[in-house]
Amino acid sequence: MGKCKNITRLLSDALDRSLTTGEWVAIRLHLPTCSGCRNYRKQIRLLRVAAHTASGSATPGAVQRDE
Ligand SMILES: [Zn+2]
Repeated sequence: MGKCKNITRLLSDALDRSLTTGEWVAIRLHLPTCSGCRNYRKQIRLLRVAAHTASGSATPGAVQRDE
């Protein structure tokens, strides 16, 4: 299954660019079925929060759960 590779790629792309509707749909269909990709998404979110904190715009308690 090469799907996870695509999904993780899209998840990290989403930090840099806007995804198309089709790309979001692919993610939304895949994430509920795959704990690996859910963990990946969690990790890159934490990395992004850490990057914000490091750049001086700290947002305490910004870790969100939407599942
Ligand atoms: Zn996956």
